[in-house]
Amino acid sequence: MREIKEVENLVIRKIEGERSSVVDLLRRLVRASKPQEEVQTQNIVKKELKNICKEIDVWEPDIVELKKHPAFFPEDMNYAKRPNVVGIMSGSGEGKSMILNAHIDVVDPGLDAYWKYEDPWSGRVEKGKLYGRGACDDLSGVVAGLYALKSIKEVGFPLKGNIIFESVVDEEWGGGGTLSAVMRNYKTDGAIILEPSGLEINPANRGGQAFMIEISGKGVHPRMSYQGVSAIDKAMGIITALKNLQQIIQEDQRTAVFKDFPVFAPVTIYGVQAGTDIPKVPEKCIFKGLLGYVSPQSYKEARQQLEEYVEKLASLDPWLRNHPPKVSWLGLNKEPSETSVDHPLVKTTEECFEYVTGEKPQVRALPAGTDASFLTKYGGIPTILFGAKGANCHTSNEYVEIDTIITVAKVIAVTLLNWCS
Ligand SMILES: [Zn+2]
Repeated sequence: MREIKEVENLVIRKIEGERSSVVDLLRRLVRASKPQEEVQTQNIVKKELKNICKEIDVWEPDIVELKKHPAFFPEDMNYAKRPNVVGIMSGSGEGKSMILNAHIDVVDPGLDAYWKYEDPWSGRVEKGKLYGRGACDDLSGVVAGLYALKSIKEVGFPLKGNIIFESVVDEEWGGGGTLSAVMRNYKTDGAIILEPSGLEINPANRGGQAFMIEISGKGVHPRMSYQGVSAIDKAMGIITALKNLQQIIQEDQRTAVFKDFPVFAPVTIYGVQAGTDIPKVPEKCIFKGLLGYVSPQSYKEARQQLEEYVEKLASLDPWLRNHPPKVSWLGLNKEPSETSVDHPLVKTTEECFEYVTGEKPQVRALPAGTDASFLTKYGGIPTILFGAKGANCHTSNEYVEIDTIITVAKVIAVTLLNWCS
């Protein structure tokens, strides 16, 4: 058998030589992308995988089955034209196995006018950056994973452990894609989620639960405004006070992996709906927010903390005491995930990162919700997040730095060679 060092250098050189096809594949994925309908992009992924893996599994997650699972929170979801695609590269047995997971779904691009180039689906390349919705989050992860696998297949190095490549849907909301893969029994000794971590190794991430608060006031004509109660005013009081709750959470829940972030578990208001087009004192205000929390707090405890906090605020206000704000929980709830920084999966990836780049990686938590908890908590699989660097994810002018996709593919390929042999 060839020396592993020799093979490592071979895959690194192979990936380096694929730069233009990496850009081409990413651009095709950006151009074929459509929020909530991933069949076109998954067809591209499936075609790529056919040249790499003998076994390919394609299915649409089953909402009836998902709803029976304790980690699935959306009330309803439609997975028609939203298939998962999985490719399996079988090893000879006895070696450690690995899941590579990346999400093919993208969030809505917002208004075209806010985008620098012709539209959100341009895939334009400028100064080493590729622009477009999903270019970074997380089509870059899909591409990096595919090229890592491709290089291993091409050098023909026999691995002992299996590699399972998952291109999943619905990461951006309920996580039904990854959860459905766990329920289909795709389980391994380790997993790498190829989220754009900015080349950091993230063995942990926070949880996030979306909520809605409904405030009732008393609507009146402006000429009698003093007799009314503005629901907007009351809501503003609560929104401001929620910043204090955010502060309490940062002080109470901070652990070593989150030490670098001023706010790692935000209480962010992302939507407000109130009033009418007619001037009046408004009787209704509804706002939506995201509540961050980290292990070991459970989502039930996190919910309770917010409910009690709002209840306490209401008790201090004569109107709200008799017209209590109504808190409800939305279908977006990503639980926190944590794998020990000393776990062999973290250590192996760190060493391979250093071998490929000549630098030590940053190892710390990702202060964002991800699919990792489905794998760790419900699949029993040690999991890390590692991926490319870019900017403006979820907003206009999203881009990825192309060099970093190449780096990710190399680090992943070398990690797989070591982990699975
Ligand atoms: Zn993502």
